[in-house]
Amino acid sequence: MPSITSAFPSRTGYTFMGWYDNADYTKGTEYYTKDNKSARTYNKYAATTLYAGWKVNTYTVSFNLNSGNGTTPSSVSVAYGSQMPKISASTITRSNYTFQGWYDNTDWTKAKKYYNVDGTSARPYDKISNVTLYAGWKQNSKLEIYYLSLGRYDGYLIMGNDTTIFIDGGDPAPGHTAVQFLKSLGVKKIDALVGSHLHYNHIAAHEEIIDNFEVVATYYPDDPRTCKSRKTCRDKDVKPDKLIPKLANIPVNVLTPKLNTKIGNLDFDILAPFDLSSSTNYNSLHMILKYGDHKFYFTGDSGISIFNKVNSTYDQSVFSNISIFKHPHHGQEPVPAAFIKTMSPKYVIVPNKTKSTAGSAYKSVNSIVYELGEQLIKTKDADILSQGKNVKGYVLAESDGKTLVVTDRRK
Ligand SMILES: [Zn+2]
Repeated sequence: MPSITSAFPSRTGYTFMGWYDNADYTKGTEYYTKDNKSARTYNKYAATTLYAGWKVNTYTVSFNLNSGNGTTPSSVSVAYGSQMPKISASTITRSNYTFQGWYDNTDWTKAKKYYNVDGTSARPYDKISNVTLYAGWKQNSKLEIYYLSLGRYDGYLIMGNDTTIFIDGGDPAPGHTAVQFLKSLGVKKIDALVGSHLHYNHIAAHEEIIDNFEVVATYYPDDPRTCKSRKTCRDKDVKPDKLIPKLANIPVNVLTPKLNTKIGNLDFDILAPFDLSSSTNYNSLHMILKYGDHKFYFTGDSGISIFNKVNSTYDQSVFSNISIFKHPHHGQEPVPAAFIKTMSPKYVIVPNKTKSTAGSAYKSVNSIVYELGEQLIKTKDADILSQGKNVKGYVLAESDGKTLVVTDRRK
């Protein structure tokens, strides 16, 4: 072939391989090398067009956790213009941040996203060099938990990470006031309405709440009476049958034990109930809300044998270092002292009904604290929510994932 003097052609993301008689160089015959030198003698009997041969470039993509914790994904090879090869869904974490995916800048808000949270490609590779992708972390909003003072009845409002959760709420009378309280806070939508267990005095208020707020989904523990199997809930002998019509158009979810469960954008460990018990109380949910450095344990009306089973089923780290422990069953049944010792709660919340049972709950909690020794008595508080049929204030817990501020706003 006669010599050619034009400049070498270029194409972004590709390497020039010479001149070929086919647009796909891998299927053609080379007539000029990539140095524009003759590769062979001309062997055709007609005029022809030679095509530039282009080999796509492959680059190495590495990963940087960007202040996160966990295992850094192995680097991958990707061809220019191709979708990113699938990587494992990430399990990396960062206290009080939510993982957003992998980006080409340490500040994900100013970056291009290359991987989604589940490890799938977010865009074709469009760079002409090796790159490092950074984990994108969105800071969580402040968490607020209102432990409502409803007397004997439980009622807990959790707001954080654009998620609003309400647990229980009491019987219809305090339910009304729980509704007023939620309205006074400007709550319009409840992402998750949770029943700790299917006792009327805990969840009857759900009817009022469903009537007054946009409830996205409801969650109940597995129980012979769980309203997911609504035909059993329709049994007239089973309270709260009034709930059933209201639940007809709302997704009902049954929560079963599972670590690392999301409700909305909040992280939970669901520890119990295990086997269906004939005791509705013992079918109470054990829910630990995990928020940054803090854990908040909700127990419904659970009892001693369930705590023993939680103790023997899970690694102790799951229920150690609890920031606030909601004492089960209105303080009526003690929690095993060894369990409390592992939890080492900074605060204990005990809802109560009457002055006399409030007194025994004080005794119960104090005796547990007593067993933990003098040091704990000095550093930990036990808090008892006051008697009353209406919402008489609340204990507010606020956390940014690091700090925890607990304020007593009972009236
Ligand atoms: Zn109960």
